[in-house]
Amino acid sequence: GLLAGGEVRPTIFARMSALAAEHGAMNLGQGFPDTDPPPAVAEAAVAAIREGANQYPPGAGIPALRESIAAHQKRFYGLDWDPSSEVLVTTGATEALAASLLALVRPGDEVLTLAPFYDAYGAVIALAGGVHRTVPIHRESGASGVVDLRVDPEELRAAITDRTRVVLLNSPHNPTGLVLERPVLQAVVDAAAEHDAYVLTDEVYEHLVFDGEHLPTATLPGARERTISVGSAGKTLSVTGWKVGWVTASAPLVDAITAVKQWLTYASGAPLQGAVAQGLAMADEDFTAITSDLEERRDLLVGALQEIGLPVIVPQAGYFVLADVSPLTSEDATELCDRLPAQVGVAAIPVSAFLPEGEDGPWRSWVRLAFCKDRDTIQEALRRLRTWT
Ligand code: PMP
Ligand code: GLN
Repeated sequence: GLLAGGEVRPTIFARMSALAAEHGAMNLGQGFPDTDPPPAVAEAAVAAIREGANQYPPGAGIPALRESIAAHQKRFYGLDWDPSSEVLVTTGATEALAASLLALVRPGDEVLTLAPFYDAYGAVIALAGGVHRTVPIHRESGASGVVDLRVDPEELRAAITDRTRVVLLNSPHNPTGLVLERPVLQAVVDAAAEHDAYVLTDEVYEHLVFDGEHLPTATLPGARERTISVGSAGKTLSVTGWKVGWVTASAPLVDAITAVKQWLTYASGAPLQGAVAQGLAMADEDFTAITSDLEERRDLLVGALQEIGLPVIVPQAGYFVLADVSPLTSEDATELCDRLPAQVGVAAIPVSAFLPEGEDGPWRSWVRLAFCKDRDTIQEALRRLRTWT
């Protein structure tokens, strides 16, 4: 076809959201909240437009936002970043990831991720000419019907070699909701140091943790100089449509990533930056309120899926729950998700979308359902699923 790389395929999120709209389905597919951002954050953006923040901002981001990103990392993680040389504002985490990979990966270099992985990773690694290697997240069913996930630090360590240019981590993880723990992160940092690789860490769900604790990779011994951390206002402030994200890393890394960002978008949305700066400075209770509200909706969806009789992976964090649909149908999840919006009025994403084509074996009967939706949407989706089952 026209497209250069096999991994550069149309994103499933756009396709499933279009199907959901066409059939009036409850959209538990694409991960965006249908709840409002903190009112003061929304007001600040409106005010910025009225006050004339409508032309190109500085390419690296307005100073107020770079300072706020640095202050946020200091406040929550004790990390020190210089706002003028170690922080870059991007057009969502998506651009942060793309600019980082395009900056670092030379054709033929290996990029290692866990599998499943957020779908953009495969596409951008292909665009950069990299070779994508994966280490599986293992799924284990306990006696009581509890499904657990495990990442083996030794398996990860062994997969990092002199050919590895970047280890791309994602914690909290999409789509599994797994929060990676210290031994796993330290194994990656140590092996990256040994083989002179970089660690790119996608931490967009950093605040949306229900069980356990988010551990930023950059805080680990030996990590700071070779780690690029990525965040997003979309998740943290419930403004996915604003597409404001950021990178924090040492100055030489930020310089290289900025050089690429200039040629992708040059700069990112001016009037939104001051509002995000304000949002990141909000009180601890305001961050916690977003998370507790989301946790209640996680429990609502998880509980109901278990009642329906589906094995689920209870997510520690993020927007999504994974469920095994094999008790309901002999179809694979990809086929099921294609007809679910029209026939049941619910949209979901097959976990196959987060795996290389043809490598979805262990996850073939698993779907991802989003609980970052308002209660009525979740309840109505559940009503439809119960009627169908
Ligand atoms: N990384 C992960 C793990 C995500 O789930 C998403 C979006 N849901 C992104 C990156 C993209 O973030 P943004 O919308 O800020 O580009
Ligand atoms: N990251 C969101 C998800 O996982 C979707 C973002 C997008 O549509 N590109 O659902």
